[in-house]
Amino acid sequence: RDTYGMDVWSDGFFQIDSNGHVTVTPTENPDLAIDINSVVDAALESGSALPLIVRFQDIIAARVQRLNRKFREAIAEAQYPNQYRSIYPIKVNQLHEVVAEVLEAGREFDAGLECGSKAELMAALPLIGDDTLLLCNGVKDHVMLSLMLNAQQLGQQVIPIIEKYSEFEQLLLLASEQEQTPRLGVRVKLNTKGSGRWYESGGSRSKFGLTIPEVVKLVQTLKARDQTDSLELLHFHLGSQISDIQVLRSAVKEITQIYTDLIKRGCQIKFLDVGGGLGVNYGGDYENSESSINYGLREYANVIVYAVKEICEERDVAVPTLLSESGRALTAHHSMLVVPVLGVHRPDSPPLTDELNEDEIPAVLSRMQSTLADAEKHDVPGILLECYHDAEELRSEVDQLLRLGYISLEHVAQSDRLYWHTCREILRKLQAAELSPPPQEQLDLEEQLTDLYLCDFSVFHSIIDHWAIDQVFPVMPLHRLDELPTRRAQVVDLTCDSDGKIKNYVSGQGNANWLPLHEHQSGERYHIGIFLVGAYQEILGDAHNLMGRVDEVHVYARDDEPGNFWIEESLKGLSTQEMLSQVQYFPNDLDRRLNEFIRKQINTGVIKPTAASRILNNYTKRLTETTYCSTEVIHNHK
Ligand code: PLP
Repeated sequence: RDTYGMDVWSDGFFQIDSNGHVTVTPTENPDLAIDINSVVDAALESGSALPLIVRFQDIIAARVQRLNRKFREAIAEAQYPNQYRSIYPIKVNQLHEVVAEVLEAGREFDAGLECGSKAELMAALPLIGDDTLLLCNGVKDHVMLSLMLNAQQLGQQVIPIIEKYSEFEQLLLLASEQEQTPRLGVRVKLNTKGSGRWYESGGSRSKFGLTIPEVVKLVQTLKARDQTDSLELLHFHLGSQISDIQVLRSAVKEITQIYTDLIKRGCQIKFLDVGGGLGVNYGGDYENSESSINYGLREYANVIVYAVKEICEERDVAVPTLLSESGRALTAHHSMLVVPVLGVHRPDSPPLTDELNEDEIPAVLSRMQSTLADAEKHDVPGILLECYHDAEELRSEVDQLLRLGYISLEHVAQSDRLYWHTCREILRKLQAAELSPPPQEQLDLEEQLTDLYLCDFSVFHSIIDHWAIDQVFPVMPLHRLDELPTRRAQVVDLTCDSDGKIKNYVSGQGNANWLPLHEHQSGERYHIGIFLVGAYQEILGDAHNLMGRVDEVHVYARDDEPGNFWIEESLKGLSTQEMLSQVQYFPNDLDRRLNEFIRKQINTGVIKPTAASRILNNYTKRLTETTYCSTEVIHNHK
């Protein structure tokens, strides 16, 4: 567990069993454990292919319940005379089943939804009935505003949150045309700046929100129209993944002061919405990583409940219903990506079998041999570092000789072998010496001697935040965890882009630039799990190299099923032709062009008709298949 830092990120959902397999306990019942490898087997048997997204639907429900219960506990403990309702922003993961699961699990807590665009609004309106709260953020045109007013006429609990003063003016205009009194909320630009990667979402320079003078003007306008009760909600958002709880505390205090002031001016605000930002521990040490947080659910709830209560009591104002727009914290854990290892590239060249004629060995090679002998003989770090410097120098000498044509390729190959052998020996001994801090040479060697494990997936499609903003995701093998992982590895993807790799890994000792993995023989089954990918990744992921959406299965825990689970739904990923048509290559046209070319080759005698038609059929068939590596190959090697 410690090798892969599971205690930090698993949140009690993921474990390792006695067979060395990763298991998941997606419900609150600790005895209902599912071997993730069995889920993968069942998915493959029923026609899904790797790479595969596995969604543990129960985890969504568990996270919704945990968040709401923590608030209920904080409210009871603080004797806060009002309630909390969680609001799920659907942009975090719009998948219908994810939203449905959040709503279902949230029903007993009066949970609601948030949308941030026209399309999201149109997806959400039919889901909410007349009792579920739907908050609307983002830039709103008159179409969106009129859809919201229509929903209010229908008795739905839809509240547009004004982000710009002009939106307010437009809303009033549209409402007057329909002789309607609108319900609305306001996003306030606080002085408190966010903390963590998305800190710019908060603070006075943030893109969205009204300044205090604008809020005052808005209230005056409502007063003049005798509509102060229209303003039902105050909102701020500090940015996603707030890393420091003190920043949240300060923002909550600031918004509560504004709330009490407005109440004293005659407003009847019902809801105080602290926005998103509830973070997830992806692993790594808090000091050096924006992928971790310094608080848990309990502290998050306590900070909000107590800060609001204290200020409201001081100013003798009734406390509001509390809302938070938590998305990442509800969905990140439920989804993981399973990727197969396709092959391993080792940086050191394989041992040479050909014996070289001793008489012909150039002087530089003899010096390399004695450097290796020295490294083998000595354990003193100072001497080992000297050997490393010598090996480096000799290697660049060989490079120069090659450029000038003074050394044969056999001798270059031999020097390569000697160089890597020497490096491995030096690194092994430096690591055994446990120097603290390790010398730069050791760090360089660790990086150079890392194996590349080629895996069937795209970083750009499946974990784009890793590429874009260095977000760390937990990565580990799904089996063989009863064996010591003996290789230092980096996981690289299928794309032909040097950025297509995982650069940072979580371990019990903080973040590292390599991952301990097991020896892998070509064709052997070795599956790696990339965890906590349920928030933002799926919808932000792009089509670099035309790698498309991957297959996925939706899994529920059940104690009366073999393996404690059932696959409720399997969805196919996008086929090659579906990806191609997104960039205007259409299968009929491609087929026709290839057909014409093949006919020409038949006519000119380049190929016989039977072979040509086999080639055309193969091309046409492949258009309907996955953009990832063929599962045929992987199955054959299983
Ligand atoms: N609300 C608003 C207005 C947002 O912009 C966001 C995302 O940044 C969220 C809620 C969701 O934040 P999180 O996923 O961190 O909870």
